[in-house]
Amino acid sequence: MALLSNEEKQERNRARCREYRENNRDYLKAKNAAWYIANKEKIKEYKASRVRENRIHSQNYYWKNRDSILTSEMNKAKSRRWRANNREQERVRVREMRWKNIELTRIRAREYTSRRKSKILGNPWSLSISDNDLSRLLRDKCCGYCRTAIINTPHLDHIIPISRGGRHSISNLIISCQLCNLTKYNFTVAEWRYRHGAKVWWVGG
Ligand SMILES: [Zn+2]
Repeated sequence: MALLSNEEKQERNRARCREYRENNRDYLKAKNAAWYIANKEKIKEYKASRVRENRIHSQNYYWKNRDSILTSEMNKAKSRRWRANNREQERVRVREMRWKNIELTRIRAREYTSRRKSKILGNPWSLSISDNDLSRLLRDKCCGYCRTAIINTPHLDHIIPISRGGRHSISNLIISCQLCNLTKYNFTVAEWRYRHGAKVWWVGG
């Protein structure tokens, strides 16, 4: 018998467990349900204790970092006041910042359109996307599908299209080249690959 490497052993064990779970689905379900009923009070108590601990933890955090929290709140209020009093200057500042990060601004605009679309269609679990997440996406200068370098404007693509019920959130977004984005249209990755023989480097997960 051939010797198995550790990874292979792990994979074999995992497969066995999976098989066991699949073969004994009803039994395991009943077992779990019985355990839940038997330990209902304990679970309740455990959850309550976690809530208590969290509350104490955040109180402690507040008192420990009170000064810095208050200072940062004060600074925020101060800059809010400044912005209110210097509207014209603030407008210029924002415009300059947008030009400086023109790529992010463009992507942000596209993000806004798709967020609206997703809202209109009522797709569940859609979330707005932070600037940090968007710039993280933009940091990758290659297409997320075909891995060629992006020369023109990067396109923001929904892996599962919004029109097909995909959620608008960072987990469903990828930066792609123009060709990939336009040929993918509103197909899923599998459909797109089937229709166009597309070269998809990203395999999902
Ligand atoms: Zn591509």
